[in-house]
Amino acid sequence: MKFSEVLGNEQAIVQIRRLIDADRLPHALLLHGEPGVPKLGLAMAAAQYLHCKNHVDGDSCGVCPMCRQHQSFNQVDTHFSFPFTNSKGDSSSCDANDFMDEWREFVTKYPVEDYQAWLGLLKNDNAQPQIFVREAENIIRKMTLSAYTAKYKVLILWLPEKLKEEAANKLLKLIEEPYDDCKFILVSDNEKGILGTILSRCQRIELRKPSTPLVAQYLVDRYGMDQQDALALAAPADGNVIMAERMVQTGSEFHEFRERFIELMRLSYQHDLAKLKAWSEAVADMKREKERRFLDYAVRQVRENFIYNLHNPVLNYLTREEEAFSTRFSPFINERNVEGIVAELQRASADIAGNANGKLVLFDLTIRLSILIRK
Ligand SMILES: [Zn+2]
Repeated sequence: MKFSEVLGNEQAIVQIRRLIDADRLPHALLLHGEPGVPKLGLAMAAAQYLHCKNHVDGDSCGVCPMCRQHQSFNQVDTHFSFPFTNSKGDSSSCDANDFMDEWREFVTKYPVEDYQAWLGLLKNDNAQPQIFVREAENIIRKMTLSAYTAKYKVLILWLPEKLKEEAANKLLKLIEEPYDDCKFILVSDNEKGILGTILSRCQRIELRKPSTPLVAQYLVDRYGMDQQDALALAAPADGNVIMAERMVQTGSEFHEFRERFIELMRLSYQHDLAKLKAWSEAVADMKREKERRFLDYAVRQVRENFIYNLHNPVLNYLTREEEAFSTRFSPFINERNVEGIVAELQRASADIAGNANGKLVLFDLTIRLSILIRK
């Protein structure tokens, strides 16, 4: 992977490029940031840049033998370590080599690392993946060999917070007093979960959430989505790319939510209590968590419709279908009722979370909304 293919984090890229250009990449670099923030791709781009013999415009060339080996995940001086379960024998007999097929599939299919997808590939739902002692020994063995093709060997270690304590202790000496040709790049979703002894030996770079337009562009490129729809999905994900991808995959839920929301607003305005009661019962048939996701969606839509009245498209994140409704509906959301409507939706969500009867909570909500919407 090249730096130009990394989503966001331009500052971190500049920092890492400078370190490599000056031959001052630390022995142990930790890239950390919230789950859903792309990090593994940057680690791989850094390793490729370190090995590329022919830098072009501050990036690896993508075409030299080293780059090509990196891009097909068979560069002999680049090693990967990651948590796995004991699905292929017990933990004392497995190491990362036994999971290389799954790993290649993972990094090829998922440009942004998705832990749930990794669990799916491991096909062992009941066990928690970890990095076991046997794998620490495997790392030591690999990193003790001299580099074959490059000045530096690189180990990209995904999720050091999953190192078992005995495994971490085995690695300590290697990370503390590494061979001159060893570079460790650790990639963490939760740096607080890393053992202090390992953490203190790493130089850290925190990776930031990509902006909403960047996440939207990623959805457009990867899923062929329409630009406006992609922006509307990316906005609530707030820089969490995995969450945005989940929303694309569960698109049918959003379609259903949109229909329910439109129905709720129409019936509230018409003050049609019999139909509002039927609406409450239908929505209460959803699972509790889904009811709450719907209410979150409704809160967002009410806010978006209020903002829509300002006629400043830059401020709005509506899909084209949502916008078609908003052109007519938005005037009914105004400064007299917007806060009240949002408060009622949030209260209903809290009551449902607290195990109140969904039908009663929702019918009560619709009555209050049908008063507020006419203000
Ligand atoms: Zn190259």
